[in-house]
Amino acid sequence: MHSLQSTDPEIAQVLRDEEHRQRSKLELIASENFVSDAVRLTQGSVLTNKYAEGYPGRRYYGGCQFVDVAERLAQERARRLFQAEYANVQPHSGSQANMAVYFALLQPGETIMGMDLRQGGHLTHGSPVSFSGRLFQVVAYGVKPDTETIDFDQMARLAREHRPKLIVAGASAYPRIIDFARFREICDEVGAYLMVDMAHIAGLVSAGVHPNPVPHAHVVTSTTHKTLRGPRGGLILSGAELGRKLDNQIFPGIQGGPLMHVIAAKAVAFQEALQPCFKEYQRRIVENARTLAQELLSLGYRLVSGGTDNHLMLVDLRNKGITGKQAEEALDMAGITVNKNSIPFDPQKPHVTSGIRIGTAAVTTRGMEPSHMVEIGRFIHQALSAMGDETRLAALQRQVASFCDDFPLHDPGSHSHVL
Ligand code: PLP
Repeated sequence: MHSLQSTDPEIAQVLRDEEHRQRSKLELIASENFVSDAVRLTQGSVLTNKYAEGYPGRRYYGGCQFVDVAERLAQERARRLFQAEYANVQPHSGSQANMAVYFALLQPGETIMGMDLRQGGHLTHGSPVSFSGRLFQVVAYGVKPDTETIDFDQMARLAREHRPKLIVAGASAYPRIIDFARFREICDEVGAYLMVDMAHIAGLVSAGVHPNPVPHAHVVTSTTHKTLRGPRGGLILSGAELGRKLDNQIFPGIQGGPLMHVIAAKAVAFQEALQPCFKEYQRRIVENARTLAQELLSLGYRLVSGGTDNHLMLVDLRNKGITGKQAEEALDMAGITVNKNSIPFDPQKPHVTSGIRIGTAAVTTRGMEPSHMVEIGRFIHQALSAMGDETRLAALQRQVASFCDDFPLHDPGSHSHVL
């Protein structure tokens, strides 16, 4: 920090401000987490200097003997963590993992089926504003209006009608267990590949808290930075037979030199995830989410699908007469960070929305337990009830900051906290 301060005081200030924000506010964004010191150290290391196009043992640059060790370790650990035959740890992001799979298995113009963005899917699952919707024909499936769980009957009907070449299972805002076997049945019936994008739930899957998609899917993609608590990045898993095709699509297909500092940091995160205490951490994330959901229900909030089985919940704010955008702003003023989120069949536009998405991975890393979730539920309620009253929201922010002080950002890789 010393040399950064003298080289670039403005960015040094950004780092200090952001660290303060992370420490003093309640981080409830479902896709975020706090990595360990070991992951951060590795990501900020000398490995950032190295070019290593290619794969371990077959690079286009000299001097790769040490980064080869790191990438092999990352691959091996990822395979072990998810019981997969093949792993590619080079995708720079979850979006690039998905892009590589589509390019490996499909020709432009062929049909994919994915969950509607407005009902929980991700942009890369076929949204018209993403490469996925621009390069492929897209058929979207969604949830049932009554239960707000995946509508498999609709999906099967659409699959029979449109014969997609690939069906994507997985979501960014879906609070329930996903039945991968059911997806595979439909894929087999219409001759489609099954790609599971487990970005949100990868940590839960690694710990057996959510069923593992690997035995069901032709290919599984993920990010490494959400519940899995690694550096920002992507991951692809599959059976051995698709390995070469997938390798070639990542490099040279859509990427150049791999980010070796990030790949080594992924290896560290996978090593942490292989420890028994990581299972306990994942179990606690789910327990915390369930408790927070229960508290919000008892305070009169409606939750999409009635609750949660995983790390996140979607709050439908229509009965409170407020929009997602207003709620996100009021909560932010109270020191609580969430994101506005469309709910299924949302009457509001995507930049307004009727809902917010709340996740418990980051607060669980801080060591918070079910009793604290009850307090967080009350903070949320107080903030939403004080909307428009800046004085009350500022007072609440002070209360939230002092609550956060009781949970210093311990190094989650040290295995000592949360247990
Ligand atoms: N897939 C899902 C289900 C996601 O939720 C996300 C990110 O939110 C991604 C893919 C994309 O990941 P990235 O932001 O690393 O491109």
